[in-house]
Amino acid sequence: MERTLSSETLEKVGQKVKLLGWAATIRDHGKITFVDLRDRKGIIQCVGQDFPKITAESVIEVTGEVAKRPENLINKNIPTGEVEVKVEKVTVLTKSIELPIPIEGDGLEIEEPARLKYRYLDLRRPRMTRNLRVRSKLTSFIRNWLTERDFVEVETPILTKTTPEGARDFIVASRLQPGKFYALPQSPQQYKQLLMVAGLERYFQIARCFRDEDPRADRAYGEFTQLDLEMSFVSQEDILQLTEELFTSLVKEVFPEKKVSTSPWPRISHKEAKEKYGNDKPDLRKDKNDKNELAFAWIVDFPLFTEQTKEDFFHGAGNAKWAPSHHMFTAPHPDDTPLLDKDPGQVRGLQHDLVLNGFEVGGGSVRIHDPEIQEKIFDLIGFTKEQKEEFAHMLTAFSYGVPPHGGIAPGIDRFLMVVLGEPSVREVMAFPMTAGGQTAVMDAPSEAAEKQLKELGIKTSSK
Ligand code: ASP
Repeated sequence: MERTLSSETLEKVGQKVKLLGWAATIRDHGKITFVDLRDRKGIIQCVGQDFPKITAESVIEVTGEVAKRPENLINKNIPTGEVEVKVEKVTVLTKSIELPIPIEGDGLEIEEPARLKYRYLDLRRPRMTRNLRVRSKLTSFIRNWLTERDFVEVETPILTKTTPEGARDFIVASRLQPGKFYALPQSPQQYKQLLMVAGLERYFQIARCFRDEDPRADRAYGEFTQLDLEMSFVSQEDILQLTEELFTSLVKEVFPEKKVSTSPWPRISHKEAKEKYGNDKPDLRKDKNDKNELAFAWIVDFPLFTEQTKEDFFHGAGNAKWAPSHHMFTAPHPDDTPLLDKDPGQVRGLQHDLVLNGFEVGGGSVRIHDPEIQEKIFDLIGFTKEQKEEFAHMLTAFSYGVPPHGGIAPGIDRFLMVVLGEPSVREVMAFPMTAGGQTAVMDAPSEAAEKQLKELGIKTSSK
């Protein structure tokens, strides 16, 4: 007999079916037992007399007839609440021992390390399963929408060289060149610009980025995902419009219950945002209690530089006067270019931040395509000769005909966190790390074998 999914039982009243799934709850009333079977579509009540001994969360196969429930026993809380399956046979396919964490409810009261250690159980919660499904719907919507508009999806390397976005790098040792290291990309920024030199004109990637920076509710430790996007022969206006169209269509399609409060999205200069709201990611919702309201906004006209601090070691020597507000490839406003020599603090950058309900959910810019200006920026952020050499490939590439280009990178995890009203980005990621940098389920980081270290030419001093 073919398998029937829980959601299909409604159309099969009077028919014999075979169900496969987990015994989510078992209510043994002596003579009669009720088992809620859970599969990927939801749950269905199974009722019978001679049940074998089953433990909760065991995987079972049930055969029986679908019957309408009597009026007074209809459960309005579940989609299959009008029917149940009169069990003829139950087979236990695999048995479950007692679960280490409860999986009913939203799980937010459970210590996060325990949830992450048993993430495969934690993900059985309907809320978590829904989050993963919505995430998949969102990325497939984005892929379709962009490819229909002539964008090309390109995978860029993970083992690469530093691409600074303002955090520390993760580094990976090289066996073939002992003593040398790859860096994991903080973003595909340089590759996407090189793809513009390659003539692709329209690129995107659902890209994994790696940043060694302290975790917060809206920032996972280690890795996150962004929609990375770049276009050639465009103005900042074109980038903002395309992004706005994409997200407006996406909300309509994937989150039809949500409403965007102001359209077109307000555009606010960085200065105005600071003066009026005291920050550069204002929450512009009209009713903050309305969980369906989405208030998008653009923040533009950022200063190109901020004052450099010791923490900016990844943005130069750490002792220069200036650090980039966005990143070192962001173009100065053309009207302000002469000020680069005279008064760099007054130069505006062609940067744009995407803000949603008080969170920065994306950022991007028009890029520098003039090698001379790029050099000037390197000097202003205090790059040494060696540091400049790290980026020499960009200047070389730009000497072979570079189109004017720009882009943006909205964060997928953060956008989902805000739209779904989740308290942290980890609630929309399948296997995030703990705050202490421990991977979910598996015990990484872990020690490497002496032999591996020797091959890599590494001696550790921590033992
Ligand atoms: N690479 C930038 C980031 O990750 C985004 C961009 O400028 O397109 O924030």
